[in-house]
Amino acid sequence: MTNSTQNSAQNLVQNPNQILEKNLHARFTFYGKNSLKWKRKCTLLLPEIAKYRIWEKKGFFSIYEYAAKLAGMSHASVEAALWAMKKVEDKPELRRVIEEKGIEIIRPIANIATQETAKFWAEKAMEMSRNTLAAYAKEYKKSERSAPCAGSGICHKNSDLFSDLNLQIKPEIAEKLQKLKGQGSWDDLMEKFINLYEQKLEENKPQLQENAKEYIPAKIKNYVLAKTNNTCAFPDCMKPYEILHHTERFALTHEHDPDSLIPLCKAHERMAHAGLIENENQSPENWRIKTTADKTTEKWQKVDKWVTQCYTGKSAENCA
Ligand SMILES: [Zn+2]
Repeated sequence: MTNSTQNSAQNLVQNPNQILEKNLHARFTFYGKNSLKWKRKCTLLLPEIAKYRIWEKKGFFSIYEYAAKLAGMSHASVEAALWAMKKVEDKPELRRVIEEKGIEIIRPIANIATQETAKFWAEKAMEMSRNTLAAYAKEYKKSERSAPCAGSGICHKNSDLFSDLNLQIKPEIAEKLQKLKGQGSWDDLMEKFINLYEQKLEENKPQLQENAKEYIPAKIKNYVLAKTNNTCAFPDCMKPYEILHHTERFALTHEHDPDSLIPLCKAHERMAHAGLIENENQSPENWRIKTTADKTTEKWQKVDKWVTQCYTGKSAENCA
């Protein structure tokens, strides 16, 4: 027997196995998908099962035992379901989201959504992942809390930031800093440091790259990341960056501009593409969350839609 006939004989032996494995996986995925769908239907019935105490009438000790034995639901998932269903009982838009995407997606917004805003939140929940929705809901709450200072022009949002920094400095460095501060204020000293750092960065700022390929050159990448030390640039977000985001969409410009490339965590990058960041063309300290999506140009909308689809294929950075 030659080598090639041996190989093809082996292939014949392997192929039935491969087919079997593929088939097993396909069946498992199909059943899994359906079991999730049916579980969601059970979840939607739970409030009425509880209301009419059907579990008791059918001889169960509690609704938890009823849901565990009949639908394999854990104690925690029944508790979460009852809580969330109570929150959405007067919001049919969000009930539909639960039916489509499950109870988990509702959790970050259950306490924020009102009857008036239910439609808005339902749309967001349908188009966002749970992580992005949770990050957006957090920003939304923050923007509501700081709303009174928005009109006055005076906002003390960051007044406690320095005390929140919780600096852990070695004694010898603290002593040096104290000397550098001298008779001046910490504000003045820190501002001086920031100016020096920014000046140094500017001196080494790389050129904008035109007619570029998707790959971002290391020089530009390093410059952009030095501005936040590899952290998401969205105000108050301290997550590590995951994506270098083109605030001027790359698909339209084919440019890597060191000034308009911004490091973002995934949730904030998704928000940018959902059209939810105000002042996106300014530097990130001026960014605010939008409480409604208003895309100004159709062109951008198309690109952002394309980016959303792109996530299923290539690496995220190339899509942004
Ligand atoms: Zn972030």
